[in-house]
Amino acid sequence: MIRLININKYYRTGEEKVHAVRNLTVDFPEIGLVFILGPSGSGKSTLLNLLGGLDKPDEGEIWIEDREIKSLSKRERINYLNSYLGFVFQEYNILKDLSLKENITLPLEIQGYKKKEINEKFKQIINDVELTGLEKRKVNELSGGQKQRIAIARALIKDPKLIIADEPTGNLDSETSHNIFNLFKRLSKNRLVIIVTHDEESANEFGDFIIRISPDGDSLQQYDTKVGGENNE
Ligand code: ADP
Repeated sequence: MIRLININKYYRTGEEKVHAVRNLTVDFPEIGLVFILGPSGSGKSTLLNLLGGLDKPDEGEIWIEDREIKSLSKRERINYLNSYLGFVFQEYNILKDLSLKENITLPLEIQGYKKKEINEKFKQIINDVELTGLEKRKVNELSGGQKQRIAIARALIKDPKLIIADEPTGNLDSETSHNIFNLFKRLSKNRLVIIVTHDEESANEFGDFIIRISPDGDSLQQYDTKVGGENNE
């Protein structure tokens, strides 16, 4: 369970102070597909970084399960990043010198998992993300959609409770994007998936819950939920 309470985040560059996230309060569901929509510069990536523990809010509380993130020690925060959370980015972050398998199993290799366990998990994951049969391909011989599936598989391989994706279909054509959103939808049946996108249409089609961030005025955020077919507002 993730809960944000009255979050504010500022950036200071020289004389300028940017209010990047304003008075944001939101309860995320335990499982499901959540989209964050909003114009460029409205604080979406900042919000993902806060949720991912990569940055800290200036004001407010971030509760993950029953712990407030500021109360976590450095080691606990790293554990959270390693086990609770998987990140997916727009640019896939595929390492060209590694094979498809090495790209996906990297988090397990780093943690010293046994070969047998890595092989078993790899087989399961590439089946889940529909990459089976492409194991022998070089990663530069794969399409954008296939590369994004590798990135999703890498985020998934440690079975995280939360997947965060920043514009994961930003470099993909509409048909491939549709397939990737379908995959996220399937993955969100038993975990929470939070996606930042500009793709309003897909958010409406696939999202269980939509957070809209608008840049004008003081009341910057509106929440719009479709959970259970009801609108909360
Ligand atoms: P979005 O993801 O919605 O495009 P961002 O979260 O990237 O928005 O940025 C929100 C605001 O904070 C913008 O005005 C941006 O210029 C500013 N900002 C983001 N990161 C930094 C930073 N590291 N230093 C200074 N300003 C930043």
